[in-house]
Amino acid sequence: MRFSQYLIPTFRETPSDAEIPSQQFALKGGYIKKIAVGIYDLLPLGLRVIRKVEQIIREEMNKAGALEVMMPSMIPAELWQKSGRWYRYGKELLRIKDRGDRDYCYGPTHEEVIVDLVTNNIKSYKQLPLNLYQIQNKFRDEIRPRFGLMRAREFTMKDAYSFHATSECLDATYQRMFQTYTQIFKRCGLKFRVVSADSGAIGGNASQEFMITADSGEDAILYCDSCHYAANIEKATTRLTSSIHTGDPLPLKEVPTPGQRTIEEVSTFLNVPFTQIIKTLVYNFIPNSDLEGEIFSLAVVCLRGDYELSEVKLGHVLDARVLALASDRDIMDHLNAPVGFLGPIDLPADIKLLVDDSVASIINGVTGASKADVHYVGVCAGRDFPNDIVVDVKTVRAGDACPECSGGKLIQERGIEVGHIFKLGTKYSESMQAQFLDEQGKTQPFIMGCYGIGVGRTAMSAIEQSHDDRGPIWPIQLAPFEVIIITAKAEDTEQKAMAEDLYTKLMSIKIDVLFDDRNERIGVKFNDADLVGAPLRIVIGNKLSEGSIEFNFRTGEKRDVKASIAYDEIVSIIEALRHQID
Ligand code: ATP
Ligand code: MG
Repeated sequence: MRFSQYLIPTFRETPSDAEIPSQQFALKGGYIKKIAVGIYDLLPLGLRVIRKVEQIIREEMNKAGALEVMMPSMIPAELWQKSGRWYRYGKELLRIKDRGDRDYCYGPTHEEVIVDLVTNNIKSYKQLPLNLYQIQNKFRDEIRPRFGLMRAREFTMKDAYSFHATSECLDATYQRMFQTYTQIFKRCGLKFRVVSADSGAIGGNASQEFMITADSGEDAILYCDSCHYAANIEKATTRLTSSIHTGDPLPLKEVPTPGQRTIEEVSTFLNVPFTQIIKTLVYNFIPNSDLEGEIFSLAVVCLRGDYELSEVKLGHVLDARVLALASDRDIMDHLNAPVGFLGPIDLPADIKLLVDDSVASIINGVTGASKADVHYVGVCAGRDFPNDIVVDVKTVRAGDACPECSGGKLIQERGIEVGHIFKLGTKYSESMQAQFLDEQGKTQPFIMGCYGIGVGRTAMSAIEQSHDDRGPIWPIQLAPFEVIIITAKAEDTEQKAMAEDLYTKLMSIKIDVLFDDRNERIGVKFNDADLVGAPLRIVIGNKLSEGSIEFNFRTGEKRDVKASIAYDEIVSIIEALRHQID
């Protein structure tokens, strides 16, 4: 490509509303253009990167035996009503009416459509397993679209769905997809960590996320410093140390605690550690089983004072479709207790109490007495309040003990979720009556897996992981161009001839080369080249009269190379770089 005939609308200033480097450089470097909140044009440079990600995905998915299909974005509501998600999915689902007043949604994910496709075409176990994928645009009306393509509303996803007659067969394909994803992200030149994950709105029983490690990541990950354990914070558990609460049980006693509401205040006032305080939270929820209802139920949860509650975990325990902290008014109405002095003792009989396992063995703890300005001391779980519904609803944190090995401590880091693989089981095939005939001629629901990759998010996370203050430092596999050729003086005939020669030869052997042939100042060309982020920049300038040109690597290294061997050198450098990642 010649820069003069290409569309790379770069900007000198960083857009003020861009928050993270990938978003800043993608906008400043003319990769993408915002047209509405969470909705972007992909300009030629951006599309080149996206196509490279897609190409790697396609090659690896095809190698794994998956078949490419293309499903529509517009999905008739009946399919989503059949699975029940029409009612559960909430406002992220963009619902649309056609001219005949029929309901549709713009697909945020395609389990329903693929189940419909397979049910109509697969009748027998003999046709299984089957793994189908597409690379297609999704729409999710995200509550907080941000970071450019990272969390967009319209975005490209590779989604794959596998169908099996047995769970062993699903296990084998899931494992194959795990390896395929590992290979895809390696080939993209990215550093990643695989973590066990929450299954979210898609559902199912086992899932793992592929996380690109980067400080700007929206997800928190915990991994063990001495074994393989790694999990999204939404899913992470810990091994509780039981030695905190010792001593013989004391009698339950009320103590005055005027105005002491928070854990910090109570801890200071009564001189007890956070770990001995039991905090009580009240939530309103609508269960998943209540598809169209609007009536909230109440749940009371207690956990140890040093832990925060995980709403994701609580949502699962309650199987809640909607979950929200109860208002002070609700709490007063139902529990007759002021916030800040709530406790699990003597709750009304119709209230269900969930006890986090951090609380289940507390002896001589402290908790609110459910009346203003009073707490209980000498509180013993099981004796003073029922601890028969023990759950794990706490947010595990750095420094907690690893749940899988002895002695390991959890370390926290940030990650960008680029891929997610799930074992769905029969969740969709049962709700949508998707069945096949097994070996005995009996009907069985398909056993399913599903596997997603955010294409744009993957591209952007490469910038997040590797950039300097001037622009992206692309891994060669994703770089929009592998080489950029710059002449210091565009009109100098000798420089121009050298550049043209290299450009033509490199193009002919399928090296992606951009020739900056513009009649611009060298400084402008260098700034733009930094934004293009090609691994190798060839600068043809004054030294050409002495027979040499400059090789300038995006990572910083520079050297002079004889013009006569420049072509061979470029080819061997690019070959080596390509090989390094593969
Ligand atoms: P997140 O937790 O980030 O909202 P998700 O868990 O809802 O994502 P999945 O349903 O697992 O996402 O979708 C598969 C992949 O699609 C994700 O791993 C991610 O890479 C990508 N993805 C999801 N939402 C977006 C978005 N709003 N913008 C860009 N990519 C997205
Ligand atoms: Mg996910």
